[in-house]
Amino acid sequence: MSRPIVAVVGRPNVGKSTLFNRLAGERISIVQDTPGVTRDRIYADVEWLDRKFTLIDTGGMEIGSEEVIQKQIVQQAQIAIETADVILFVTDVKTGVTEDDVKVANLLRRTKKPVVLAVNKVDSVKRDTLAIYEFYELGIGDPLPVSAGQALGLGDMLDQIIANFPEKDIYEEEDDAIKVAIIGKPNVGKSSLINKILGEDRLIVSNIAGTTRDAVDTPIEIDGQKYIFIDTAGMRRKSKIKEEIERFSIIRAVAAVERCDVAILLIDANEGVTDQDTKIAGIAHERGKAAIIAVNKWDSVEKDEKTMNKYLKDISMELKYMEYAPKVFISAMTGQRINRMLELIQTVYQNHALRISTGVLNEVLIEATAMQQPPADKGRQLRLYYMTQVSVKPPTFVIFVNERGLFHFSYRRYIENQLREAFGFVGTPIHFIVREKG
Ligand code: GDP
Ligand code: GDP
Repeated sequence: MSRPIVAVVGRPNVGKSTLFNRLAGERISIVQDTPGVTRDRIYADVEWLDRKFTLIDTGGMEIGSEEVIQKQIVQQAQIAIETADVILFVTDVKTGVTEDDVKVANLLRRTKKPVVLAVNKVDSVKRDTLAIYEFYELGIGDPLPVSAGQALGLGDMLDQIIANFPEKDIYEEEDDAIKVAIIGKPNVGKSSLINKILGEDRLIVSNIAGTTRDAVDTPIEIDGQKYIFIDTAGMRRKSKIKEEIERFSIIRAVAAVERCDVAILLIDANEGVTDQDTKIAGIAHERGKAAIIAVNKWDSVEKDEKTMNKYLKDISMELKYMEYAPKVFISAMTGQRINRMLELIQTVYQNHALRISTGVLNEVLIEATAMQQPPADKGRQLRLYYMTQVSVKPPTFVIFVNERGLFHFSYRRYIENQLREAFGFVGTPIHFIVREKG
């Protein structure tokens, strides 16, 4: 089941970032091996009462004239409406209700999405209830007093947030369809690719009606395989500010990846792998999704027999942590290798859900440790006793060892590679849980 998405909105200086950091806590940099992703983070995992969700901070820019800021606030609210399951609207008790608050409220009132209204900076225990009442005038329900700075009232607010989560995955009955997110920076060719796939004489099943999301997903059946392409239509926000465009494309990617089985990362062949590509790729990686790297606009590159290899090398360098993702060189314009890409989607999808029996797994483990001795440290040698697969999507293995500290990254990687050699697992990350056994 995909995790619900909670988007934080509100005008500048009400304390959105403070609140975001407070809720995200230490979890904010969980995955250290995803370079470029942990910087300027705008999304984080939060867990409250056994419910996990993804928190997105839509704010961030908020510079310029009052007019520019107002535009930004509106865009941020709109992107939250498009992508979130629950919207957390933050206001400030010290300033009271402002004109900009009213603007945001007017937008939020028009959506069907649940909105939780937090009044921040209520720092003292004897809370000024009168000041809180003023926020009823925004017309979006009960204002909740919180203090991001003092960590007050956050539990009640989180209770409210999770009480508003959708009951179940909207696609639960559509289990035979592969959910695909095409992600990538603006202008890389995402819409063109979808249009190309749809344009080819293919059967569009139906539109999914009655979902709580405002976004449009495209179900389609190709050669007997059902797919759902996520968030493909009407998702273009015009903005002149580069940072803002980037931020929105990341928010959009987070929302799409959250709900997908397979993420296709589009790279522009004319630009190679950019910083933003790295960030977007990291989203799929961190979420443990099946992934394909598609180099688009291949038609527009001048090439000789070495060109493809050069690209492959560059991608491996820049996206080291995604070595498992197969690469394909496509053109959304001419349709080159789009069939190949569709085949890859099926392959990586199957690998993502692959289950290996414990017996076979341990045969591989025994062979691997015989071929290359586990490392020793200060006279203590690592011993790998046993391993078993505990879940899929992505394949996750519990491995029992004598001492966790001895199981260094390089040997872990060796074991991972042995598993990949034995079972394939193309296109899916593999997760390990290391347990000590006396
Ligand atoms: P953003 O622009 O909405 O992201 O706001 P920030 O998180 O950057 O906070 C703006 C200012 O409000 C900073 O100076 C914060 O230290 C302050 N602030 C944030 N939360 C609280 C709070 O709960 N109480 C008080 N007194 N100040 C806060
Ligand atoms: P999006 O912002 O990622 O959805 O990108 P678009 O699909 O709107 O494409 C951006 C631009 O790239 C458009 O001008 C497309 O015509 C162009 N484009 C997309 N795919 C290809 C391709 O495979 N080859 C070439 N030459 N141009 C492409």
